[in-house]
Amino acid sequence: QCVAVCPTAALTEVNNTDRLWEHLNDPSKHVVVQVAPAVRVAIGELFGLEPGTITTGQMVSALRSLGFDAVFDTDFGADLTIMEEASELIERLNGKGRLPMLTSCCPAWVKFFEHQFPDLLDIPSTCKSPQIMLGTIIKTYYAERTGLNPADIVVASVMPCLAKKAEAARPELTKDHNNNVDIVITTRELGLMLKEASVDYAALPISDFDPLLGESTGASVIFGTTGGVIEAAIRTAYEWVTSETLEKVDFEQLRGFDGIREATVDIGDQTLKIGIAHGLGNARKLLEAIRDGSSTFHAIEIMACPGGCIGGGGQPYHHGNTDIIKKRQAAIYQEDRNKVLRKSHENPYIQQLYREYLGKPNSHKAHELLHTYYIGKEKI
Ligand code: SF4
Repeated sequence: QCVAVCPTAALTEVNNTDRLWEHLNDPSKHVVVQVAPAVRVAIGELFGLEPGTITTGQMVSALRSLGFDAVFDTDFGADLTIMEEASELIERLNGKGRLPMLTSCCPAWVKFFEHQFPDLLDIPSTCKSPQIMLGTIIKTYYAERTGLNPADIVVASVMPCLAKKAEAARPELTKDHNNNVDIVITTRELGLMLKEASVDYAALPISDFDPLLGESTGASVIFGTTGGVIEAAIRTAYEWVTSETLEKVDFEQLRGFDGIREATVDIGDQTLKIGIAHGLGNARKLLEAIRDGSSTFHAIEIMACPGGCIGGGGQPYHHGNTDIIKKRQAAIYQEDRNKVLRKSHENPYIQQLYREYLGKPNSHKAHELLHTYYIGKEKI
């Protein structure tokens, strides 16, 4: 197998493209793909486009041209994550569980706290990541709706991330010893496959994701940048707690590029103190404060990579050029503004999923399918 090395030298990247081609060429398999938010604002760079060029529609056409049976959006999984995570945050604010609640959608961060802070395993959200939530829903709800045998479905993911490959194989995230996501490729690997297939990326027409699991809101797009996950959760938590419409959805105080940021958000008569960190050195400082009892945050978002997933190890190389990452970040916020719906709970297909299958957020079934647990490891 061909291997490449992560730009941060933290991980070795196994090239999964040959395995994916084999699945795509196997007529007995129904091969579907999901794509993470950060991919759409960076993959154009592999084809000579400027950093920050939004190519969502071309990316969907490109994936169809490779032969996937359905093209779904990890953004749908992000909207689903918010339904569960905002519910969990509200429960903890009401005294059911420990504060602060930490976001848990970054597998490099999850691995870090399992090794370094095994005494704090009850503070991260129990929500699976958007990638794994969507994979789980494809192998259950989608399989039932389409009459397909889950064993015949191959779920592929295109991720900005090397750690997502290991995440997909975590035993805690599999169901009955079967992976919910079968194969993960990075943004760069997708670029390789498209070049092997001689796809003229920039000239492709714009097309839409497949319905059912392809519709998403602006809240899910901003998962791609530091601060976005917690902003998306606040948009939904605000409306659920106050029963008022949130008119201004842009929480500028949660945005930016500083390694550690602090902000307050008023929800009804409560003022939430939010912490945000990107980079594991910065995360450590916030975790140490929780450990020694000096932290006063209600919720903390942590992403391992610079800028969040837009700066992930599977993205086109940025060679530490912050301008490139900032252009991708600006594109993420533009993509959010381009959306008609910008709060996860307004996604009509998410509402349908709960109506038809999951019941309500944090229901028994939602817990069984969409939540996980953490295991403390010996310190490395
Ligand atoms: Fe992966 Fe980096 Fe995003 Fe974490 S921040 S999920 S390691 S790309």
